[in-house]
Amino acid sequence: MGTDMAAPGQPRCASYDAIVIGAGIQGSFAAYHLALRHRDTLLLEQFFLPHSRGSSHGQSRIIRSAYPQEHYARMMPHSFHLWQQLEDEAGTPLYRRTGLVVLGPAGDPELEGCRRSLGPGDILDEGTLTQRFLGLHPRRGDVALWDGSGGVLQADRALRAVQDAFRRRGGTVRDGEKVLRIDPGAVLTVTTTAGVYRAPRLIITAGAWTNAVVAPLGLHLPLQPLRIDVCYWKEKEPGSCSAVTPCFIATGLPYAPHGIYGLPALEYPGLVKVCYHYGSPTDPEERDRTLPGSPRPHVALLSNFISSYLPGLETQPAVMESCLYTNTPDEDFILDRHPKYNNIIIGAGFSGHGFKLAPVVGQLLCELSLGEKPSHCMAPFAISRFPGVLCASL
Ligand SMILES: Cc1cc2nc3c(=O)[nH]c(=O)nc-3n(C[C@H](O)[C@H](O)[C@H](O)COP(=O)(O)OP(=O)(O)OC[C@H]3O[C@@H](n4cnc5c(N)ncnc54)[C@H](O)[C@@H]3O)c2cc1C
Repeated sequence: MGTDMAAPGQPRCASYDAIVIGAGIQGSFAAYHLALRHRDTLLLEQFFLPHSRGSSHGQSRIIRSAYPQEHYARMMPHSFHLWQQLEDEAGTPLYRRTGLVVLGPAGDPELEGCRRSLGPGDILDEGTLTQRFLGLHPRRGDVALWDGSGGVLQADRALRAVQDAFRRRGGTVRDGEKVLRIDPGAVLTVTTTAGVYRAPRLIITAGAWTNAVVAPLGLHLPLQPLRIDVCYWKEKEPGSCSAVTPCFIATGLPYAPHGIYGLPALEYPGLVKVCYHYGSPTDPEERDRTLPGSPRPHVALLSNFISSYLPGLETQPAVMESCLYTNTPDEDFILDRHPKYNNIIIGAGFSGHGFKLAPVVGQLLCELSLGEKPSHCMAPFAISRFPGVLCASL
């Protein structure tokens, strides 16, 4: 697709209705929504697909209705609906319903926010909790909320499904092409390592690399890439932690202020995924470089949690992988126009909780880029909540 003007041996040169930079889950959904609206769209990715250098790889992500912030809780029914639509289109399951337990001390703000989003009648007594969640030992005084809609999204499969659906609707994916330069204008020019492309609208969803992409456009967003240790813990007794246990989120832990979450043993038989919802500041180009004497800092905290809450698991991880969060100071997403170039839309700062909402995020980015009325209130996602992000020289 696109109006291709490539001569043999020359850089590719083509025009599109829209260009999206970054083929993670957010950019892929944005491109898909543009293609659904019959816009000839180019999706550019710096690495060859699939890759494990960003934030969207791996086999599992939690999806849930329970959300402490009302604006996300309001978006979740829409997101569940759009995931179902993609499942139907792909003809393959992407979501596995397991239920989700939110665990924490009464009065904890995160727990109480989730309680509000779920409504009455969703508190588990201790007997029901241990019946549903074999092996979980809550602390005295913990409250357990039940989110029956909670479950696992099969992340790799979902990413492939949305990219395939985009291609089926005429979209073009060019991977292994890093964007080097963006020239703004009524028709923008995007120069990559292999081509020059033009379009009247651009969406930037470059994950942990967002500031590198937007800096030449005079913007510096308060984004902090974090390396996350993705830890899998072996059950002491084979078969004791089956793949049908619910997901969980534990809040209000004094030694783990960002919370801990877990998913059933799905990717590796007998290994349960339990992670800290925070990481170590990093440069995405050097994610796996650990300095001598600074081992994985959050593993000890997780071991501590496991020995008291999940005593059926060994206290050292059997497998560790890496992934990136890109956090904003308030952990709300950035979904907005560039303050100076209104045909450049930015989606960033998903702060470790963006996967479940990607179908809605993609739709919102698409709506912004086409000048349509957004389907949800955009105030929580505005760039203007962070003063001083635009360089004075612009
Ligand atoms: C360990 C872990 C667990 C998580 N668990 C959950 C969960 O349970 N539930 C949930 O909802 N969310 C979860 N998340 C968060 C979720 O996965 C992310 O919010 C989401 O994947 C972010 O997607 P993205 O498209 O913004 O970023 P990415 O997937 O990183 O995509 C950005 C892409 O842009 C490309 N790019 C960058 N610069 C350029 C350039 N110059 N030219 C071309 N391409 C470029 C990158 O290569 C990359 O592929 C988790 C994240 C991690 C790391």
